[in-house]
Amino acid sequence: MISSLDTLWNKITTEIQADGSRQNQAHSKIFLSSITPAAIEGDHLVMEATSDFCRDLCEKRYADVITRILNSEKPALKYRLVTKSGRFGQIKPEQPAIPAFKTDDEAVKTVKAFPAKYDGMFNNKYTFDSFVVGKSNQFAYAVCHAVSQNPGNLHNPVFIYGGVGLGKTHLIQAIGQELLHKNPKARIAYLSSEAFTNEFIDSIKDKKTEAFRAKYRKIDLLLIDDIQFIAGKGSTQEEFFHTFNELFQQKKQIVLTSDNPPGKIQRGGESLEERLASRFGMGVVVDVQLPDLEMRAALLKKFASKSMVEVSDEIIMYLAQGVVSHIRDVEGAFNSVLAFAGIMKKPISKDLVDQVLKDMLRENSGGKIGIPWIQKRVAEFYDISEEEMNGKRRSQNLVLPRQVAMRLCQILTDASLNQIGQKFGGRDHTTVMHSCEKVNRKIKQEKAFAEEFERIRRFVDPEKQ
Ligand code: ADP
Ligand code: MG
Repeated sequence: MISSLDTLWNKITTEIQADGSRQNQAHSKIFLSSITPAAIEGDHLVMEATSDFCRDLCEKRYADVITRILNSEKPALKYRLVTKSGRFGQIKPEQPAIPAFKTDDEAVKTVKAFPAKYDGMFNNKYTFDSFVVGKSNQFAYAVCHAVSQNPGNLHNPVFIYGGVGLGKTHLIQAIGQELLHKNPKARIAYLSSEAFTNEFIDSIKDKKTEAFRAKYRKIDLLLIDDIQFIAGKGSTQEEFFHTFNELFQQKKQIVLTSDNPPGKIQRGGESLEERLASRFGMGVVVDVQLPDLEMRAALLKKFASKSMVEVSDEIIMYLAQGVVSHIRDVEGAFNSVLAFAGIMKKPISKDLVDQVLKDMLRENSGGKIGIPWIQKRVAEFYDISEEEMNGKRRSQNLVLPRQVAMRLCQILTDASLNQIGQKFGGRDHTTVMHSCEKVNRKIKQEKAFAEEFERIRRFVDPEKQ
């Protein structure tokens, strides 16, 4: 028998809430407040979303969970997700009525079809077109784009490294998709090093290592994402070494990504074999870095234009200043802001942005406020490096951030002036005192600065709003 509407909805919400990470909880909160179960009609569960945006967001994030639950019903159900009351405000009036975000399905249709064997291999959003280029990734972009135009001849191998969420997967997939567009006959393998490992182990188990070898040694472009996971795996490293050599000799293009440069790859205390590390470094090694303020603003503009929501430059800058580090964070913050605006049917304001950022910031600080944290956040706020923050240079664009950071250390930590001075490149306590006084004076004299200081304080210490 089919469960009642309430029971079904209960199962779905419980399942969605069971994913415990903070970010997921924040997202599920958004989801649950924006979708209501409407009816069971025939073999369909009908749900209503408050806006097209929330509908698409739900489709993107929760389709799997919902489908799984509905499939476990007897008989199995399908679902329909409809929008209750048109879209939320702020969509550019001249735009035709299309959803704020394309669902993956729709996006697929607009992309030229690849040969069937590549089905599901690539995320069609990870293309060069959708990649925003800034100081932090321009070299990586240039190299990747060049090899996609001329694989095997320019730089081989290409090794891209950097922290999480900085676009490595995006870039490596863009190479594959670009080459396929140019040459649908190209033989391409894109997989993570974990998938490579598993396939190799399975091939041993099934006594098919010859077939495995033949497959990977007869391709034109080998793209391995997150190569660091083969460190410490003896026989996989051995196998990969031979695959690599074979392809390299045939002048086939190899592109690898990793969290660290070749010489510093480690997994569970074990390093990557030396002979692999040296081969990985033979071609071009490029890194992707944290996006700077300008780049974060450019990314936000791109997200805004894709979602066809008008967001003022002022809000873009405000959000770009408030959101830390990863591009994934920037994207997440932007999506959350849109979702909140949609649910609350409010225009996107600074208050709304603050509300969304509060959660993210708290998560990033891990609840601990120490001198290094303050230095890091203030440097981020002013878009200077931590070295500049602590260094000797006294140019005006560095002096103020340094003074502000010192004053915040005085307010927010128990450290003495002396200890603070030590952490700022070994300055003495009178310098710290002088800095704190200067900041206080500036706060009293300039209203705009007083507001800025308050914002930085909240940026550093999001617990105390
Ligand atoms: P990594 O593999 O380095 O951990 P990803 O490539 O998965 O990071 O990127 C995380 C998210 O950020 C993806 O949604 C990706 O499309 C997006 N992203 C990363 N860099 C850029 C960029 N330069 N322009 C546009 N989107 C980006
Ligand atoms: Mg990745």
